[in-house]
Amino acid sequence: MENLAGISDHLLRFSPDALIVVDEKRRILFANDTARVLFGYSPSSLIGQSLEILLPERLRTRHVEHVGAYLRAPNNREMGARIADLTARRADGSEFPAGIRLAPFELNGRSYIAAAIRDITESRQVYDSMLAAREEADRANRAKSRFLATASHDLRQPLQAVRLLNASIKKLVRDSEVGELLERQGDAIENMARLLNGLLDISRLESGTVELKVSEVSLVKLFAELKSDLEPVARARDIALDCESADLALATDRVLLRQLLENLLGNAIKYTDRGGVRMTAAMTTDALVIEIVDTGIGIPADKVTRIFDEYYQVDAHGARRAGVGLGLAIVREVARLLGFSVKIDSTVGTGTRVQVFVPVQFVVERPSPQTPRPIERKAPSPSAVHPKVVLLEDNDPVRRATELFLRLEEFDVKSAATATEAESLFTASHGDEVLVADYHLDGPRSGLDVLLDLRNSTGRIIPAVIMSGDLPAVMRTIKVPVEQCVFLGKPVDTQELIKEILKLGSISQTR
Ligand code: ADP
Repeated sequence: MENLAGISDHLLRFSPDALIVVDEKRRILFANDTARVLFGYSPSSLIGQSLEILLPERLRTRHVEHVGAYLRAPNNREMGARIADLTARRADGSEFPAGIRLAPFELNGRSYIAAAIRDITESRQVYDSMLAAREEADRANRAKSRFLATASHDLRQPLQAVRLLNASIKKLVRDSEVGELLERQGDAIENMARLLNGLLDISRLESGTVELKVSEVSLVKLFAELKSDLEPVARARDIALDCESADLALATDRVLLRQLLENLLGNAIKYTDRGGVRMTAAMTTDALVIEIVDTGIGIPADKVTRIFDEYYQVDAHGARRAGVGLGLAIVREVARLLGFSVKIDSTVGTGTRVQVFVPVQFVVERPSPQTPRPIERKAPSPSAVHPKVVLLEDNDPVRRATELFLRLEEFDVKSAATATEAESLFTASHGDEVLVADYHLDGPRSGLDVLLDLRNSTGRIIPAVIMSGDLPAVMRTIKVPVEQCVFLGKPVDTQELIKEILKLGSISQTR
C-alpha cells in the first residue's frame, strides 16, 4: 500500500475545482491553490475580501440578494437554474462562465458556505453549439413544413381539374370496360386527394403558422354535427354510431377540435367491421374526458406508441381501408396546439378506446341547458330544377373542367375568369344564378369578397358555393356566418358540389 499521508491536505489545496469558504457576511475565509490558478489571486490576498470581488461588477447587487436568499434556506446544490447566467471575474478583469456548487455547513455554532467553482467555457461552447444546431434543425423543419404546405396546396388545383374531368368522362362513356378503368382512376384520384389534404393539414400545423381562434364551442352541437356527417359512412359499413355529450361548452378552436374528433371518429369507424362506435364527453374532477370507443380490430400493444408518427400504419390494412397514415399525426399536432392530451388503450380483436383529456380551464360554465337543433340535411329531390350557375375561377384548366362537368350535369353555366367579368354577368342577368367561386383569386378580392359586394350592389342574397384549397384557414378568417353560402374544400367532391348547388337553387326558388 502506498503511503498516502498528507493526501487530504494536498487534495484540499489542489482539488480539481477551486474551493472557497465564506461566512454569513460573504467574507472569504478560505481559498485553495486551484482558486488562485482559476482567479489569478493569491489565496492570502483573497482572505477577508468580500465574495463579490470574484464577480463582474454588474452582477454584484443581484448576487448579494441571491446569497441572502440562499442563507435563509441553505442546501447542497448547483447554483443558478440556468448555467448561462453564471459568470465569474478574474483578477485581471477578464470573465469566464462558471459552474458553482454550494454546500452549507456549521462549525462552532456558526454558518458557512463552501463553494466549488470551475471554468465551464468548454461545456458552455458545446451547449451553445447544441442550442444553435437545434434552432437550425427547428428552422429547417419549419421551412420543410412551409414548403409542403405550399406544394400540397398548389397541387390541389390540377387535381381539382383531373377529378372533374374524370367525373365528366364517366358521364359520357357507355363502354363498360372504359367505365371500369375510369372507376379505378377515380379511386386513385380520391386517394391522392386524401393524401394531399393530410399533407396540407399536417404541414400547416407543424409549420407553426396556425393561429388559434378561440370561441365557445357547444359539445352537444358539435357532436350532433359530427354524427350527422359520419352517420352515412358508419351506415355503409353497417356499424352503429352514437355521439352523446353532457351539456358542456369548451373555450377552444372549433375548427381544430372538430378536425381532431373527426379524425378519431373516422378511424374508429374505418377500423371496425362489426358492432359500433360510441363517442361520449363527461367531466371528471380534473378534466373533461372525450372518449371514442370502438369494437374494431384493435391495435397490437407494441404498435400503440408508433401510430401517432407520420405515415405509420400498423399494416397494409391502413392502405386497404383508404388511409394514408396522417390522421393520428394530425390528432397529435392539434392536441398539442389546443393543450389537450390523448391516450389510446386497445386490445387486438376487441376494440380501441381513445381518450382526449381537456384540462378544466377550457371548460365553460353553462347555466342554461340547450337542446341541439337537429341539423337539416335534406337530400335534394331528383326532380329539383337546375338553377343557373355563374362560375368564377381564375385558373384556366380548373375553370374549363368545372364548366364541362357542370354542363354535363345539365346546368346552364356562364363562366368568368375575373371578379369584374363575374360582376358583369350578374348585372346583365336577373340575378337568379348560384355563384360558384374560387376563394383565392388573382387580385385583392377573394371569391367571398366578390359575393358580398354583389349582394350589396344587387340587394339580393345571391346563393353561393365558395371553394378553397385551404378550407380550414379560410374558415378561420370568417367572423360571422354567411347566409346561403356553402364552403367546400378543394379538390371538391363532385357529387357534393352538385348537391349543394341544387340545394341552394331550391332555397332561392322558394323565397
Ligand atoms: P390512417 O390514415 O392509416 O388511418 P392514422 O394516422 O389515422 O392513419 O392511423 C395510423 C394507424 O393506426 C392506422 O393505419 C391503423 O393501423 C391504426 N389505427 C388508428 N386508429 C385505429 C382504431 N380505432 N382501431 C384500430 N387501428 C387503428
